[in-house]
Amino acid sequence: MRKFKTESKRLLDLMINSIYTNKEIFLRELISNASDALDKVYLESLKAGDGSVVRSELYINVSCDKDARTITISDNGIGMDEEALEANLGTIAHSGSLEFKEGEDAKESDEIDIIGQFGVGFYSAFMVADHVKVVTKPYGSDTAYTWESEGLEGYSIGQGEREGRGTTITLTLREDSDEFNYSQFLNTYALQDLVKRYSDYVRYPIMMKFTTSFPVERPEDAPEDWKQEYREEDEVRTVNSMVPIWTKKKADVSDEEYNEFYKATFHDDTDPAAVISIHAEGTISYDALLFIPAVAPREMLSRSFKKGLTLYSSNVMIMDKCEELLPDYFGFVRGIVDSPDLSLNISREMLQQSKELSTIQRRIEKKIKAELARMLEDDREKYEEIYKYYGPNFKFSIYSTYGGTSSILSDLLMFPSAMEGKMVTLGEYCAAAQEEQDKIYFATGDTVERLNSTPTVKGVVDKGFDVLLCTHDVDEFCLMSMGVFDGKQLVNVGTAELDLETEEEKAAHEKVSEENAELFADMAASLGDKVTKVVASTMPMDSASCITAGGMVSLAMEKYFKSLPQHDDEVPSAEHVLELNMGHPVIKALQKAYEDGDTDTVAAYTLILHDQALMAEGFQIEDLEAFNEAVYKLMV
Ligand code: ADP
Repeated sequence: MRKFKTESKRLLDLMINSIYTNKEIFLRELISNASDALDKVYLESLKAGDGSVVRSELYINVSCDKDARTITISDNGIGMDEEALEANLGTIAHSGSLEFKEGEDAKESDEIDIIGQFGVGFYSAFMVADHVKVVTKPYGSDTAYTWESEGLEGYSIGQGEREGRGTTITLTLREDSDEFNYSQFLNTYALQDLVKRYSDYVRYPIMMKFTTSFPVERPEDAPEDWKQEYREEDEVRTVNSMVPIWTKKKADVSDEEYNEFYKATFHDDTDPAAVISIHAEGTISYDALLFIPAVAPREMLSRSFKKGLTLYSSNVMIMDKCEELLPDYFGFVRGIVDSPDLSLNISREMLQQSKELSTIQRRIEKKIKAELARMLEDDREKYEEIYKYYGPNFKFSIYSTYGGTSSILSDLLMFPSAMEGKMVTLGEYCAAAQEEQDKIYFATGDTVERLNSTPTVKGVVDKGFDVLLCTHDVDEFCLMSMGVFDGKQLVNVGTAELDLETEEEKAAHEKVSEENAELFADMAASLGDKVTKVVASTMPMDSASCITAGGMVSLAMEKYFKSLPQHDDEVPSAEHVLELNMGHPVIKALQKAYEDGDTDTVAAYTLILHDQALMAEGFQIEDLEAFNEAVYKLMV
């Protein structure tokens, strides 16, 4: 007996103890694996050029045996050798990004989430079966192998018997319980329904044997007490329609069919947020069917995530994930592209240079963009929902291309607006802006609430200008790399000279600054390199002081750099400016102490005004002891 790898074991445990109501999906998962195996063997034999695999002879068979309580799914696909059995069925294929919640926190909803997010593939068999046996003979080999498991304890691998190439999976169903009636699946018609519902589009025949009984004609010499007799006839029928859904026009496919196809193919439990169907004819013909997931694929967050669309040529899958078809910023899109104009034997290297492919890519990109823009326009709520997942992708792309992708992506961006109290696009910001306004103002910080209450944001809003409140690390980098939108300069209110005062305000400010020049210089000197200067603030604020950034690096950026796990002391830090609220009673008291020549008190005030302002911005005080001492000094 071999043991399952830890992650597999946990997933198996979930399957075995599953409360998941949708247990019937086991069939679609196993059929989908069989279909993949047929794709693979066909492609392999094409590559080998041995003509050993005839496409029209590829099939999947589904049957059940009521008495033995078994369901059998078999295919004449690629099969598995001992090593593949161990690697594929002993370990969970989608590992890496799998994180299981454990202990008290684990909720039923997490289970459903996991089953939905990953589509659990082969292991879903254990939702309905307590014994699973796999007999498989790999392509190009004469030896068959078996894999058997009764669940958590482990599995065993051995040699077996199988007539031809392919894989047969036999599930022995569990006994019925109060919770679930497993026997419902031991019925050919019930299985046929499931196949039609979940696997209709599979491009290989899914065959089932139906037994029909016919009444036997009464023989002429039948005795008086002849009873009606029946004869049974077996008929093997293909139960799926086999028409690839992506070749159909959108009008001919129901939403439900698309949703079922999406969920089955991409192992997602949630209906997609949007379906894009493309049928192109011309120099290059192709059909494409794309889906925007409503919830970001969980793997998307992991390093091992690979974007890409499945590539078919005339119905033959030639590549599972063709990266070249999707730009990174739309990497979350899932789907299929099928073009008769692509060579079956195309290699990755050839693909990269393929003109056809880049034509398809450009068209796909445009379609995705148009669909997102349409959703933004027509179904704002849905867009905001998916934007939570994909917005960072767009922003990161703009930043990492130094604004290169902003012509495509900037219309898709949204930020919380200080004035509107909701998300707005840059276009909406501009439309609502004052006529002469030539800037788009944004502020960066930890939370919308905190930003809304900063003096700078309040000050700008007071002047009648909206401010975009940016709370993601990447926001600032993204907007800075864009520079302008629609002819308006993007301005960080935390770092730029805003120049929003009227002439009188400017004059008054200059006067106060002059009158207090000495005080400010002395305060700056006593703070040393903590600040670059001390100034009278032009922003309305309730607090006595605040810190703003004087140079290009904002406070948020400084915080971001400092939060990086491997930052050294050389990370750029903001030039801190201590701004004082000259109308505040504390500043009045400070001015009085300064006039009285009470240097100790002035120093204590200065330190506290600085440290408090720093804390308000979410930074830590460097010297807590000095801070406490200053407070005590003023308390006695
Ligand atoms: P996934 O299909 O998402 O990779 P599964 O857990 O369903 O994950 O299957 C794991 C692997 O086992 C597959 O990737 C495939 O390599 C192999 N496999 C499963 N079923 C078959 C089959 N019927 N024929 C050949 N290989 C199979």
